[in-house]
Amino acid sequence: MPDVHARLSPSSSERWIRCPPSIKLGEEYGPPDESSVYAEEGTEAHSLCEFLLRQAMGEEAGDPRPEFKYYDQEMQECAEGYRDTVLELYEQIEGAALCIEQRIDFSRFVPGGFGTSDCVIVGDGKLIVVDFKYGKGVSVSAEDNSQLKCYALGAYEIFSALYEIEEITLVIYQPRISNYSKWSLTREDLLSWAENTLAPAAALAARGAGEFSSGPWCRFCRAKAVCRKRAEENLKLAQYDFARPDTLEEDEINLILSKIDDLIRWAEDIKGYALKKALSGYVWDDWKAVEGRSNRIFTDEEKVIKAVEAAGYDPFEVRLRSVSSMEKLLGKKTFQELLGDLVKRPPGSPALVSRSDKRPEMQVDPLADFS
Ligand code: SF4
Repeated sequence: MPDVHARLSPSSSERWIRCPPSIKLGEEYGPPDESSVYAEEGTEAHSLCEFLLRQAMGEEAGDPRPEFKYYDQEMQECAEGYRDTVLELYEQIEGAALCIEQRIDFSRFVPGGFGTSDCVIVGDGKLIVVDFKYGKGVSVSAEDNSQLKCYALGAYEIFSALYEIEEITLVIYQPRISNYSKWSLTREDLLSWAENTLAPAAALAARGAGEFSSGPWCRFCRAKAVCRKRAEENLKLAQYDFARPDTLEEDEINLILSKIDDLIRWAEDIKGYALKKALSGYVWDDWKAVEGRSNRIFTDEEKVIKAVEAAGYDPFEVRLRSVSSMEKLLGKKTFQELLGDLVKRPPGSPALVSRSDKRPEMQVDPLADFS
């Protein structure tokens, strides 16, 4: 029998709340994805955050850095920023308690529901849950964030016996893309969400029942490439009634644009799945796996150096590091001090993005030629 403890986790809660049967369907498509470089890097960054915060609170803690594979100045600065942010929140509450890597349990609402919150601060009627994100692909908002609400619920279960908690604040600190997101709700709203949304969805998810529903949460679903619901949603666009007139109207293009990112992601997932299957021996009627293009490489660098030097040439070239590589080397602060005046950002190529994007709209010269 699958381990229910690992199934309904806070981090995947948005998916199983929106699409309860995704848990059971996903289990038919193998174990969770293998660990990625990004995940390993994130784990190290979290360990460093924990260490720096424990150190700042005067706790005994072993320095994890000697064991790290991905440690650099950027990771150090991000973890220090997290520590300072947490301490600032903590100091704002008179007599607060601060719990680092707090194990939480919300199994009263979700079968086997537990997790570990990066940090919980409690005192003076307030409960604050802080979550560190080292990723920089997607900006994560604290607003109505189900992962953090699960942590808050578990923390409430522990601390409500000792503290009168009225207000709950969720905080996401995502330093690599300068995202600091904070959102509050009342105790009543949290408990009402737990009873009316979380618990019913968990009950369905635990037994693989409920309605399939596709959306951005499909991204980390193990069934995402083969799920019929997701395919149907995306194919709706392909079946769009393009009959009249001969060319698309602006509002039709607007509609297509609103769905196109999901469509592209879905198409890439299908291709990835089909390739993986071909590589495991499955023969598709019209498709096959081939070797992609590759660049030539030297087979023995030592011999290359000797041969080129013997012929009277210098086999090495010296190049200036890129701006981001230099910033990684020096750290943000030193980089700014040393080179801040020597960096400029040339205008980027025009890109079409949703109106929810925070960047200001380009001032367009209708006569300019962007073709
Ligand atoms: S791919 Fe999306 S719609 Fe399909 S099961 Fe997974 S979460 Fe649900």
